[in-house]
Amino acid sequence: MLLPELSPQELRGRGMTSQRTRDRMVRRLRQQGIVDELVLEVMAREPRHLFVDEALAHRAYEDTSLPIGFGQTLSQPLTVARMTELVLRESPRRVLELGTGSGYQTLILSRLVEELYSMERIHDLHERAALRLQRLASPVTLALADGGHGWPGAAPFDVILLTACAEVLPQALLAQLAQGGVMIAPLAEADGTQWLTLIRRVGQGFERRRLEPVRFVPLLQGVIG
Ligand code: SAH
Repeated sequence: MLLPELSPQELRGRGMTSQRTRDRMVRRLRQQGIVDELVLEVMAREPRHLFVDEALAHRAYEDTSLPIGFGQTLSQPLTVARMTELVLRESPRRVLELGTGSGYQTLILSRLVEELYSMERIHDLHERAALRLQRLASPVTLALADGGHGWPGAAPFDVILLTACAEVLPQALLAQLAQGGVMIAPLAEADGTQWLTLIRRVGQGFERRRLEPVRFVPLLQGVIG
């Protein structure tokens, strides 16, 4: 599909979407404990304001999550930075992301990992994200599909990242981890709290480590639209 080019003005932003605002966000991320310079550099450069509705663009760099329609949310900058740091720590070659959503986390990852796949179950979100990512020349392979089944044709993955919270650990995903590979996922506990959890494939088994409490929308089944 031929797309109108993004104008330099659109890309750069102005006022609340300007480079100064992005730099301010990155200073805040440092204060909040993000240390990976590559992550900070990419987030300082990439236009988060193009991943929300125009009416919300002026809030894109605030320390908050934002609605993207269909009851879904674009994660706050700190969460995106933290997840990306965790992924990069693995020095992965092939990464699978579940929950493309707006495509912002996808964009940041695509600048930093060798081979990225991302799945989304809601048709309209998938389409919008695909358009944005294409216009930004983001090297990612997208699919409209229920990510709970993983992506068998592209497996095994060094990292599988969930940006939605699983009630039950999808076994199909664990089976698609490379030896030594990790799944980084918000998991719901019996009391309703969510923990960012790291599950590593070691030998015949899996090691599980709880990292920190988080708040994500749920991982759901099936494709919509
Ligand atoms: N990383 C996204 C966050 C979006 S919220 C961003 O930066 O914008 C989580 C997303 O996961 C939603 O878009 C939701 O539709 C999607 N999702 C939930 N369950 C899913 C599933 N089983 N397969 C694929 N995507 C799923």
